Amino acid sequence: MSEDGSERAGRDAVAALQALLDRAEVIVPFTGAGISTESGVPAFRTPGSPWMRNKPIAFDAFMANPEARIEAWRRKFAMDDLYRGAQPNRGHAAIAALVAQGRAPGVITQNIDGLHQASGIADAAVVELHGNGTYATCLSCGLRHELAEIRRVFEASGEAPSCTACGGVVKSATISFGQPMPRAPMRRAEELTLAADLFLVAGSSLVVFPAASFPVLASRNGARLVIVNREPTELDAIADLVVRGDIGETLGRLAG
Ligand code: NAD
Repeated sequence: MSEDGSERAGRDAVAALQALLDRAEVIVPFTGAGISTESGVPAFRTPGSPWMRNKPIAFDAFMANPEARIEAWRRKFAMDDLYRGAQPNRGHAAIAALVAQGRAPGVITQNIDGLHQASGIADAAVVELHGNGTYATCLSCGLRHELAEIRRVFEASGEAPSCTACGGVVKSATISFGQPMPRAPMRRAEELTLAADLFLVAGSSLVVFPAASFPVLASRNGARLVIVNREPTELDAIADLVVRGDIGETLGRLAG
């Protein structure tokens, strides 16, 4: 069977990506919701996305209003039920391999699903810009709370649980609209970005700031910028290589 144009273009793009990876000394992967869709976690800005069904509850409202907290927990547990048991896929595995080989010092992610850690990358090497949705924290004392216990209390009482240690407001460990960005991950993401000579974006529309400022910074700092995404992104124009394709398919074809 003869190869059609799009298959050839896909193969050429993967070969070009492989060549850039082979030449790179410090690769910094930067991921968004698109890397996890193959695992069954829906992306954000896709038609029918469950994340877009409701107007987001902003951080100020969550803090000020117990009813908003109850609604936030109701939505959180409903979303968790949608992708319970999601496992890392070929894209996560390819990035974990780059980290394990010492070719990538870590991964910067906008994702909150914990799938990079589940793929075998140590916690310390996963820089989570928007937090982590697999546990909760007290916003006063910082104590970690497990979601199973929060859910048990929530479902039994119908109230948003408070911190068992200090009585503070407990929230999913994600960053909500209007919530300050986490300082240490922002600092670490900047360090990694400035160390990169190849910055590899996978699965982000690159419209969420300040997260999307890191690929811009990498490019201005002289790194090669590669974007692997199914659809056009905001930063295709400044990329050295755009691979318009499926992440699992593309990264899964790279040599280990
Ligand atoms: P986004 O939804 O805005 O963009 C995802 C991009 O990935 C889209 O352009 C889409 O075309 C592409 N895509 C989807 N599946 C793909 C695949 N298999 N192969 C190639 N491309 C694919 O996501 P974003 O830029 O990360 O911004 C969304 C925000 O929402 C983030 O800040 C994140 O915190 C949050 N979010 C996280 C998750 C998660 O943790 N998995 C899921 C949804 C939303």
